[in-house]
Amino acid sequence: MQRYLDYNATCPTLGVALEAMHEAATHASGNPSSMHWAGRSARRILDDARDKIAHYLNVESGSLVFTSGGTEANNMAIFGCLSIAKKGKVVVSAIEHPSVLQTIAYWCERLGHELCLVRPQKNGQVDAKAFCAELDERTVMACLMWANNESGVIQPVQQVVDACKKLSVPVLVDGVQALGKMQVDVHALGADFTSFSAHKIGGPKGVGVLVIRRGVPCETWALGGGQERGRRSGTENVPAVAGFAAALGVLNYADVEAVRDGFEEKLLANMSDVTIHGFDVERVANTSMFTVPGMDGETLLMQLDLAGFAVASGSACSSGKREPSHVLQAMGVGERAARSSLRVSFGIEHTADDANALVDELVRIRSLLKHMAGL
Ligand code: PLP
Repeated sequence: MQRYLDYNATCPTLGVALEAMHEAATHASGNPSSMHWAGRSARRILDDARDKIAHYLNVESGSLVFTSGGTEANNMAIFGCLSIAKKGKVVVSAIEHPSVLQTIAYWCERLGHELCLVRPQKNGQVDAKAFCAELDERTVMACLMWANNESGVIQPVQQVVDACKKLSVPVLVDGVQALGKMQVDVHALGADFTSFSAHKIGGPKGVGVLVIRRGVPCETWALGGGQERGRRSGTENVPAVAGFAAALGVLNYADVEAVRDGFEEKLLANMSDVTIHGFDVERVANTSMFTVPGMDGETLLMQLDLAGFAVASGSACSSGKREPSHVLQAMGVGERAARSSLRVSFGIEHTADDANALVDELVRIRSLLKHMAGL
């Protein structure tokens, strides 16, 4: 039996999203910029999807810029902000997704900005006071994610956004792992830039959105036909955007909290030396990241894979690389322990049976590997 427990990497595309994409691709295949009937029907689908997404996020439709995903949305905000800022300091948490960390590091180096990385506490949560203490009149941008993709820990974004507003510091909140997993009201949050991705909520891969607060300057690198109000030229991917809109609000990860909690309870009961990261702090409901001492995470992952369980040993975007998780390391977890870690992220179809079967399999694999190592 195969069990997919890697929803933070991506989740299966929902039937409603596939239907919406099929409908858009077959019945509205014109170019939304064309003035004729074919263009107008594509435009209608695009506008409807834009309105639906804007409504869900509680923002104006005109503040959305569709992108090829969360990575591009983060890149767009960072380049858009830093390329027109005077030389200064960028404050960013050390647990951001690589699409923020790498991009910030690149542009800071190219443009001569100073980079200030704020480490989280041991529990995986950034201390809002420590983060805000780094903001000053030289700060040209700040970035803090809404929820971390590896630990699931929810970050104090509201306090940081409020502090940034007082100092007029543009702020990016990466909301990719928050969407569908908690209440997301972008207007109430008030960040200058907020990014999302469709495939984490059952929409298609390769489409995302950057929400830019009205009046916030954002330079563009994608010049051409002037689509997306001149912010990202290029013919819009109408079927993908339609699929994104159709997927919104369908998954409710909050319902899997009992499954995740049951999994962790049984895990600790059967493997008392396991450490669950972020256990004592607010996390999104579907995520569990833990260290199994003395075991290699990649080996566990492969053994679980053989038994039909798909889990992650670190961030999806960096899997394949053998470097230990930068998130765990920033939390003060040693390299060995970081390499002994797994991330399980449940989806709405999972039940206590799946959680129990995973623990049973982990126990079996560990004793097998210990036996093979002569321990
Ligand atoms: N930000 C976070 C927090 C993520 O978890 C991911 C993907 O794992 C991304 C950004 C990138 O999104 P995409 O895969 O749509 O480029």
